Amino acid sequence: MSLLFSRCNSIVTVKKDKRHMAEVNASPLKHFVTAKKKINGIFEQLGAYIQESATFLEDTYRNAELDPVTTEEQVLDVKGYLSKVRGISEVLARRHMKVAFFGRTSNGKSTVINAMLWDKVLPSGIGHTTNCFLRVEGTDGHEAFLLTEGSEEKRSAKTVNQLAHALHQDEQLHAGSLVSVMWPNSKCPLLKDDLVLMDSPGIDVTTELDSWIDKFCLDADVFVLVANSESTLMQTEKHFFHKVSERLSRPNIFILNNRWDASASEPEYMEEVRRQHMERCISFLVDELGVVDRSQAGDRIFFVSAKEVLNARIQKAQGMPEGGGALAEGFQVRMFEFQNFERRFEECISQSAVKTKFEQHTVRAKQIAEAVRLIMDSLHVAKKVVALLQEYRAVSTAMAEEIRRLSVLVDDYQMDFHPSPVVLKVYKNELHRHIEEGLGRNMSDRCSTAITNSLQTMQQDMIDGLKPLLPVSVRSQIDMLVPRQCFSLNYDLNCDKLCADFQEDIEFHFSLGWTMLVNRFLGPKNSCRALMGYNDQVWKAVGWRLIALSFGLYGLLYVYERLTWTTKAKERAFKRQFVEHASEKLQLVISYTGSNCSHQVQQELSGIFAHLCQQVDVTRENLEQEIAALNKKIEVLDSLQSKAKLLRNKAGWLDSELNMFTHQYLQPSR
Ligand code: GDP
Repeated sequence: MSLLFSRCNSIVTVKKDKRHMAEVNASPLKHFVTAKKKINGIFEQLGAYIQESATFLEDTYRNAELDPVTTEEQVLDVKGYLSKVRGISEVLARRHMKVAFFGRTSNGKSTVINAMLWDKVLPSGIGHTTNCFLRVEGTDGHEAFLLTEGSEEKRSAKTVNQLAHALHQDEQLHAGSLVSVMWPNSKCPLLKDDLVLMDSPGIDVTTELDSWIDKFCLDADVFVLVANSESTLMQTEKHFFHKVSERLSRPNIFILNNRWDASASEPEYMEEVRRQHMERCISFLVDELGVVDRSQAGDRIFFVSAKEVLNARIQKAQGMPEGGGALAEGFQVRMFEFQNFERRFEECISQSAVKTKFEQHTVRAKQIAEAVRLIMDSLHVAKKVVALLQEYRAVSTAMAEEIRRLSVLVDDYQMDFHPSPVVLKVYKNELHRHIEEGLGRNMSDRCSTAITNSLQTMQQDMIDGLKPLLPVSVRSQIDMLVPRQCFSLNYDLNCDKLCADFQEDIEFHFSLGWTMLVNRFLGPKNSCRALMGYNDQVWKAVGWRLIALSFGLYGLLYVYERLTWTTKAKERAFKRQFVEHASEKLQLVISYTGSNCSHQVQQELSGIFAHLCQQVDVTRENLEQEIAALNKKIEVLDSLQSKAKLLRNKAGWLDSELNMFTHQYLQPSR
């Protein structure tokens, strides 16, 4: 078991290692290529999804059998999104990484491009100058050809000489125009990875820098300044990049100090010259342009010999040894530096291009998916649920509140009170009636309006639901059912039964009577013991005078209380005891009253419903057909709703795809 496990583990590790190796060996440009593939895939799915949504909405909108579930505006909106997404898809499919080479004439721009492409693709050399921008891009065919601006014609240019010839011959090609050199992908991996390389006329020969920038530079991901290491950076070169960095925010600029092979002839100065060039270039990028941090500027400046690299690579491609046997001094170092440049450049361009070329569209795609999802959400067909429970709650709360205020109601009760049993009986009966009426009135003030209103809405809903099933003649009769104002809730509290066992206690009780006092301080259990057992000690401890005085005062108090124990006081005591008793009893019936009310509402509704059904029965035969139609409609609505839900969920899924894309490709790498 464990052996098996460890084998599986090692297989996984090997697979992982292989994948890791493949990633390490793969060109950094693949980052862009896979991102492009991914985002194109997402847009394809987004397009299909919106197409599906648009068809669905349109069908729904045109479905005459249904009440309007969607609006024309929504249909048009989704169609609008469809054309937007298609437009973006087309743009995305054509997206590539673009590197533009600038520098003075004969610094070696074309040679650098050729070295990177491992072949003499562009004409170069003394005597060759062109005023055109030459853009090298890949094509799936096996033959190279030229495309000139404003023409669809594919002009054959099998060799670099033919190309040079064509460029010189063509009088149509004015200064600053664009020629695309379509080079077979099969010959060059760089081009297969969606890289476009653009050579420019020397920046020393033009006065049209601004229009160049507008036309050729705004979509460039990386700029390479090909400088001549035999001289220092010229003002013209600096000036051009100042202009570029005014138009673009922090453009990616690499500086190649080309012709570094020349330094080999004076090895004693080489280090010093390199240091000086390095310092000046760093100062230009960091201090003057501010396009890169000082710590990273060193990775943007290289000392190379494009000519050597190109020659070596052509020879290697022909199966000969690099350098043709006679290697110049320091060739390997310069070769390594060129390869290092290529690696850094590829990393930089793919990272930057993914961000600038896909980020905005990813955000837009998310917005569109969200907008369509919202439209699908709005199609949810709402269902009304009649909640009788609400009435139950309303009544229960109101009743609890009324019980708390019961004393006010009892205080309001005015009738002559007399302690004699006959009068008391009448008094009690009348009090019950008073409370029953008062509570009923208060409860109906609190709840009835709300309940009657909701009852009426429910009735109306019911009638509205049934009316379309009835013939027009019967409809008017139905209308007469509403509004039914006469319904009123009966709270039926039955106070007299609830309070039948109430027994008042209106005998005189002296508040400082022995039993009362002891009851109050010691509790009823201890009272007897206290009165009998400890008398002697108490009498001895207190002086007789004090005892006499106390007895005097005690007597006076007794007389006072006895005199104030009038009928009024008895009534008050009676009412207080009654309120306590009644509150307790009423608490017990809260839940019963609540459900009783709900029951009444339900009964009322059933009554109405029964009445309606009676009407429906009368025209039953006609109805069967219409019911079938309605069922169909419900079915359609159901399927419509589930489709809307499906489409809505798809939008959610697309959104998560876009989030994953953003996470994988657009967030700054840690
Ligand atoms: P461009 O006008 O900037 O495109 O320059 P080219 O690429 O046409 O090169 C002009 C001349 O410089 C050609 O003769 C190249 O062979 C030569 N050249 C280019 N790069 C190097 C280099 O690294 N070392 C030397 N010694 N010559 C080079």
